[in-house]
Amino acid sequence: MAVEKILVLNCGSSSVKYELCSVSGETCLAKGEIEAVGCEGTILVHSHADKKIKVPISARDHTEAINEVVNILISSETGIIKNKSEINAVGHRIVHGGAYFKEPAIVTEEVKKKLEDCFELAPLHTPHHLKGIMAIESILPNIPQILVFDTAFHQTIPNYAHIYGLPYRFYEKYNIRKYGFHGISHQYVTEKLSQTVGVPITDLKLISCHLGNGASVCAVLGGQSVDTSMGFTPLEGLMMGTRTGDMDPAVIPYLMSKDSLKPNEVQTLINKQSGILGISGISSDMRTVLDEYENGNSKARLAIDMFCYRVKKYITSYIGVLNGADYIIFTAGIGERSPFIRGKILENLQSLGIKISGKKNDLCVSNIAEISADDSNVKVYVVPTNEAMVIARQTRILLDNM
Ligand code: ADP
Repeated sequence: MAVEKILVLNCGSSSVKYELCSVSGETCLAKGEIEAVGCEGTILVHSHADKKIKVPISARDHTEAINEVVNILISSETGIIKNKSEINAVGHRIVHGGAYFKEPAIVTEEVKKKLEDCFELAPLHTPHHLKGIMAIESILPNIPQILVFDTAFHQTIPNYAHIYGLPYRFYEKYNIRKYGFHGISHQYVTEKLSQTVGVPITDLKLISCHLGNGASVCAVLGGQSVDTSMGFTPLEGLMMGTRTGDMDPAVIPYLMSKDSLKPNEVQTLINKQSGILGISGISSDMRTVLDEYENGNSKARLAIDMFCYRVKKYITSYIGVLNGADYIIFTAGIGERSPFIRGKILENLQSLGIKISGKKNDLCVSNIAEISADDSNVKVYVVPTNEAMVIARQTRILLDNM
């Protein structure tokens, strides 16, 4: 079938993000987000071309929310298509595909069942992805739906890097292992860098740093993920906006007994109240913490020092894993827009052949550009991520091959 317009959906617990992509031109035709689905004060923010509108709507559940998305796409005033039959397929971003989903999958009854089996691995995300799939079944019946997984890119990580040092039976019995996340983004920036520098993907040795609210570093060899900082859940690895990142696991039972915390309370603590927010006591938002750093706030300084140090530690350990890297990529909110953080992460790495150009770094905010010094052995690039485009591309490829 000819696939041209693909609706990409990212359904969260109380939000629906969407993007209508043209696959031939690899362009975004329109995009937006519905916040507070099922709550008071639901808002739809929609943008296409240079226009951005915010409308209060009523959406009691994901089906009503996605119905509003389709309505705004076909509306005579704000719309971009004439009717819903112009949408050829829907691509869903799925956070956790467990050990079962190694590549994109077309939705069938069996696939939905497998997705349900993955619920317990990401209980805050996967049930809502399934709600989005069911909503499309009722709003756009018979349209192909493709699932693209944030974990799939990391399925190439070898067993000695993805198994934890627990008794082996837990790996066999419960599939407890490193899965890794942000795979869609790491894959996109890898492909984009390959096109930009004109080096085939199979010849690339690189380290991709996705630094947003959630953050992870990935070692990519020949286009395949060979290790990544996130683990069984997105908690492992870097210190993030509200997540601890790496920490001795013995801290958890100790804290639980000291402060009489229940498992759900400790989950909230390490996932939602820690990291940059927990250390700075100010915010999880890097911009706010950077402002306070400039005002001389010592906790803001500590939070930023910790954030940058962890990223540096992962980058340098992956240089060892890859036996040297040719490229380092920065992407996502912080990675794309903060020259200060990029500079701080890569300072004092001359002995590893990494040198940033202060001038090129300062000039680069959210555009694709090289920011390393001319005599840097490792080339450093900023590559804005575009997860929706990977999902649209993979949706088209899967449908073209049917
Ligand atoms: P998410 O992980 O939610 O997709 P983003 O990739 O949008 O997040 O990144 C959000 C983070 O990027 C926030 O911490 C935000 O403060 C940070 N950020 C955005 N713009 C800037 C900037 N100009 N300088 C520093 N940090 C920024």
